[in-house]
Amino acid sequence: MPETSSPVHESGFSSLIEVTNLSLWYGKTQALNKISMVIRENVITALIGPSGCGKSSLLKCFNRMNDLIEHVNIEGDVLLRGSSIFDHDVDVIALRQQIGMVFQRSNPFPKTIYENIAFALRLHGVTSKGDLDDRVMDSLKQAALWDEVKDRLHNNAFELSGGQQQRLCIARAVAIQPSILLMDEPASALDPTAAAKIEDLVLQLREKFTIVIVTHNMQQAARVSDDTAFFHQGRLVEFNSTSSIFTTPEHPETEAYVTGRFG
Ligand code: ADP
Repeated sequence: MPETSSPVHESGFSSLIEVTNLSLWYGKTQALNKISMVIRENVITALIGPSGCGKSSLLKCFNRMNDLIEHVNIEGDVLLRGSSIFDHDVDVIALRQQIGMVFQRSNPFPKTIYENIAFALRLHGVTSKGDLDDRVMDSLKQAALWDEVKDRLHNNAFELSGGQQQRLCIARAVAIQPSILLMDEPASALDPTAAAKIEDLVLQLREKFTIVIVTHNMQQAARVSDDTAFFHQGRLVEFNSTSSIFTTPEHPETEAYVTGRFG
């Protein structure tokens, strides 16, 4: 994919991802219906809406994870820095290097803490021990995990708590230096203390990454995001600054959802 600069929007922010008229079907089930939106660079965008409204399906379009599912049909386009991610010459591995993903359930490899990150780095061509050591340390620091694991890097990752495992997965994602992080309910399987740490971490990561986060937790969306998109039944009902969505929503459906009256 050619490295081009991002189109600049009226707001002064660059748009990193532009979604235009995107529809997606799983067989006959339509999950996304003509979605158009802009993901701004270096901001946090929250995708909210009731279960089944299409949030994860949209997130998975951004790094072409839906390619792995049979019977998926997509219309419309997703532009990354102005170029379609669906072009036939797009290198999907390179695309996923630019767009990392963190899932709801932490999924460390059955390896040591160190190897969880080094493995991903080696796949991306980092081979020298010195470079690997530096990048592993740097990634663990970025994921706010270094202090808790620096004395046991060669222990099995499954010895970590659930929250630590999730931060390890975040370290693994940032290790390969993507520009975008996709997060699918990254804190929802965790206890409140561990979830709060992930939230703090998301806010810290905002300085270096563009983040798109799916959450069903309204308080979390309000606390961490700059922009919020509300979806219902595959449609984008409203997309605006997070403060507008939560204080002066334009659509009655959005208001009903953010005030907890449905969903
Ligand atoms: P959300 O993330 O908002 O809960 P999803 O994007 O997961 O919503 O799902 C949107 C719709 O697509 C739902 O009706 C869901 O059942 C359907 N769906 C999601 N993934 C698949 C799949 N792999 N195969 C078939 N249908 C799916």
